[in-house]
Amino acid sequence: MKVGVIGVQGDVEEHVVAMRRALAAFGLHGEVVSIRRSGIVPSCDALVIPGGESTTLSRLMLKEGIFPEVLEAAERDVPILGTCAGMVLLAKEGNEEVAKTGQKLLGLIDAKVERNAFGRQRESFEVALSIPAFGPEPFNAVFIRAPCYVSVGAGVEVLAKLEAEKTLKITKRECIVAARQENVVAVAFHPELTNDLRLHRYFLSLI
Ligand code: GLN
Repeated sequence: MKVGVIGVQGDVEEHVVAMRRALAAFGLHGEVVSIRRSGIVPSCDALVIPGGESTTLSRLMLKEGIFPEVLEAAERDVPILGTCAGMVLLAKEGNEEVAKTGQKLLGLIDAKVERNAFGRQRESFEVALSIPAFGPEPFNAVFIRAPCYVSVGAGVEVLAKLEAEKTLKITKRECIVAARQENVVAVAFHPELTNDLRLHRYFLSLI
């Protein structure tokens, strides 16, 4: 098995290390590679789009010819995990901030994304997040200038939401922080920064 982490920008190395740890923990044989140019995505069995700066990520993925390869992989049902900036890129539609930057989205999840959804006060925070698909224990979720999905289509499974009272800026709207559409999974937090491997287990089970 070969897992590719899109490596043009962002916290790539953390994802490579976390994914290698997950493969070892689950007794899976395989390699984890960082992808900086075209030609590698087609040989991968699963892909990760890391956190970083979604405008830069999008621009570099287009420049390197990786962007269309990811779309093509999705058509072949290759599992794709996007975290934070990766979650932004997976969405179909963005808020005004996304429109302003003109960043191109992959559109693999029928969702509307709000970039930097939590405002200045809560640029980074941790929450014991309930994700029923991972079991009863909450997931220690680290959010760093995170996005959220404010609406999703009927084909999207919501895996976790933040409760309104737990955030400063979001008060009444939907604040979806983990979602899945077929083999594409998006989370607003950074699973590569904590030791909990349940998201990796969930994701790798899609292969
Ligand atoms: N705020 C960043 C963006 O929208 C994402 C931050 C992150 O990935 N940690 O691109």
